[in-house]
Amino acid sequence: MQAYLDELNDAQREAVLQKDGPMIVIAGAGSGKTRVLTYRIAHLMNQEIDPFNILALTFTNKAAREMKSRIAKIVGPSEAKNLWMGTFHSVFARLLRFEADKLGFPSNFTIYDTQDSQRLVNSIIKEMNLDKDVYKYKQVYSRISSYKNSLITVKAYRQNPELQEADAMAKRPRLGDIYEEYVNRCFKAGAMDFDDLLLKTNELLTRFPDVLSKYQHRFQYILVDEYQDTNHSQYLIVRALSDRYQNICVVGDDAQSIYAFRGANINNILNFQRDYDEVKTYKLEQNYRSTKTLVQAANSVIEKNKKRLEKVVWTSNHQGDKIKINRLLNDAEEGRYVASTIFELQMQNQLDYDQFAILYRTNAQSRAMEDALRKKDMPYRIYGGLSFYQRKEIKDTLAYLRLIVNPKDEESLKRIINYPTRGIGQTTLDKLVLAANHYKRSIFEIIENIQKIDLPINKGIQTKLINFVNMIKSFQITADKLNAFELTDLVIKKTGLLQEFKKDGTPEGITRVENLEELLNGVKDFVEGQNEVEEATGSISEFLEDVALATDFDNEKGDSNRVSLMTVHLAKGLEFPYVFIVGMEEDLFPSAMSMNTRSELEEERRLFYVALTRAEKQAYITYTLSRYRWGKLIDAEPSRFIDEIDENAIEYNISEDSYRYKPQIDADIFGEVDKSKLRQTKPKKGTPPPSHKPTEKQLRKLRKVKPTSNQNSAKEDLMTLKKGQMVKHGRFGRGKVLSISGVGQDKKAEIQFEKAGLKNLLLRFAKLELL
Ligand code: ATP
Ligand code: MG
Repeated sequence: MQAYLDELNDAQREAVLQKDGPMIVIAGAGSGKTRVLTYRIAHLMNQEIDPFNILALTFTNKAAREMKSRIAKIVGPSEAKNLWMGTFHSVFARLLRFEADKLGFPSNFTIYDTQDSQRLVNSIIKEMNLDKDVYKYKQVYSRISSYKNSLITVKAYRQNPELQEADAMAKRPRLGDIYEEYVNRCFKAGAMDFDDLLLKTNELLTRFPDVLSKYQHRFQYILVDEYQDTNHSQYLIVRALSDRYQNICVVGDDAQSIYAFRGANINNILNFQRDYDEVKTYKLEQNYRSTKTLVQAANSVIEKNKKRLEKVVWTSNHQGDKIKINRLLNDAEEGRYVASTIFELQMQNQLDYDQFAILYRTNAQSRAMEDALRKKDMPYRIYGGLSFYQRKEIKDTLAYLRLIVNPKDEESLKRIINYPTRGIGQTTLDKLVLAANHYKRSIFEIIENIQKIDLPINKGIQTKLINFVNMIKSFQITADKLNAFELTDLVIKKTGLLQEFKKDGTPEGITRVENLEELLNGVKDFVEGQNEVEEATGSISEFLEDVALATDFDNEKGDSNRVSLMTVHLAKGLEFPYVFIVGMEEDLFPSAMSMNTRSELEEERRLFYVALTRAEKQAYITYTLSRYRWGKLIDAEPSRFIDEIDENAIEYNISEDSYRYKPQIDADIFGEVDKSKLRQTKPKKGTPPPSHKPTEKQLRKLRKVKPTSNQNSAKEDLMTLKKGQMVKHGRFGRGKVLSISGVGQDKKAEIQFEKAGLKNLLLRFAKLELL
């Protein structure tokens, strides 16, 4: 038997070994669903199934990469390269590139991100002279998006009086017209939005039976992770593709379905048995991720949901510490508490920062956490929010690149036609848009033909427009000879973008220049990475597709030893030894918007279940007494979910003054930990019982610091440390003291390390040697 099969328990192995036919694995968090999927793919490949015939769909591209590298370890890297693996969006974008012409799209179609789509909706609302307070563009866009995800095309909408009535009731009777114009404009611009990637795939598979048949043969084995969060559009694609061979394996957990608000349909998991013949169902019950306490806590919470599949989850892992619940005064105190606790844990147990995650319900909560971490000089990374590729300077550069690849791309053209400034004003642009709509051509084509069309634009401006178009065309000619990196470098310099940000001179401008450099580094990495992928050339269109579909985890660069900050939604599927769940308050978690119906509240509870089950060793929960919401300071109440946790799994730390978190002094920290630790070790006969205040030796033991020859005096030396002194740190290496601040227990040194850079260290913890 293959050795890797020994890395599975019996139930997991059975699921991996079942080769053909439809199967579903429904199991609780941390029970190895993703592991089963990964090993199953490796096992298929070991049984001579061609990787070209395997399609695996994951929740993030990062998850796909990790699975691929695990598979590569089992079957060898060259084979793993040929797997079709990624998110629904990235896999089907790739498929659509091959087939786009059938739908009337160019194969180099642009992918509009949410921001592009919203801008387009906004301009359509303006062009139609509609009231922008009634037709709020973000709401209109999200309405269009939900229609698309339910496969309601413009035509279907027009034939559905109920939908039209609902929009009319919401005072938006023209929604259908906006939808139609939006779809037409995307088509004219050779662009698909995110939802189109699924909608158009469905259209393709329905309208062209030969195409359907081709891909049914191609993807003989289909696997889907996180199946509970597929929406209707995704569900139909999977059904269509798997219809011939029915070799479909889906894994999921109904208790972790948390994307209903984006159209995910929990019934997809419940109806799987109905959809296919002779479905084999597997259950995994052993959790490998978390301590007994955490599993018990998570089980006790999810039990409160009425709508759920009964499941057993147990673990043979250690009992582990209780979940610590802390009450703080406000978000600033909450941030300080979290940062200090991470700092202490990290120092006491010699942990890396990447062992910690801070999870919150809404992105806005990250600010207080960031402030606190920054003050303590602790490295962190925020996932979600404004991604790197959405920053202005990056979008500007990408807009040039996108226009070079697809000159019809209207949103990109509008973005940069006058940036950097070249004397082409909004009025001119409005005239061009009108003309483009009138002639049913792209703006780019209108400009190309400007001398033939009678437009009220003066000769001077016409020349500027032609110069712009010529510049883009000249890039197009060179683009064929250059890889993505060379072209991006050229564009940044030739268009004047770099100079524009350089001459700005403000700190913001400097950051923008740095970000452009970062972008160039990213393109370079991409080009080098592509050399390893079959059929890839490292061209600019490949890069743009990669960027357009990057999920929040995909631009991880630099040092990965950082505290992770993200919403609970984004944390799905991930695991961290220490997890802080912050802002556990009524109206925040559960969200105020979710209290109207039982099903909304149950979705919030599932979200809390997801949060708790991310932790391996220990979870911390915090709530505050007051919080700024919508610009007002309001009294906050602890979340009902806290009360739902089995009381044996939690420990409150809510003494009279605990709401005001003070960084504790040395003796307090160690005194507290010390008591419990000392209780576990039997005192030897004849030794006096441990005193409350630990001795220096006990302290060292607790800190797990290897005693150095002269620890005591070294500690004292540190307290007399001076500016200019050379020191050596256990991890950071050699460095020079730049300044000293604080007194007594709070004494800190700012040290410039030769390799690790500038650090601010608290002397009572710092493992420094004087040189
Ligand atoms: P989630 O529901 O959160 O997505 P999951 O069911 O997909 O969780 P995995 O992420 O596959 O669970 O596994 C959880 C952890 O347990 C991982 O670290 C995985 O490597 C480990 N694990 C799973 N099965 C085994 C096993 N048989 N032996 C040892 N470790 C295992
Ligand atoms: Mg998983």
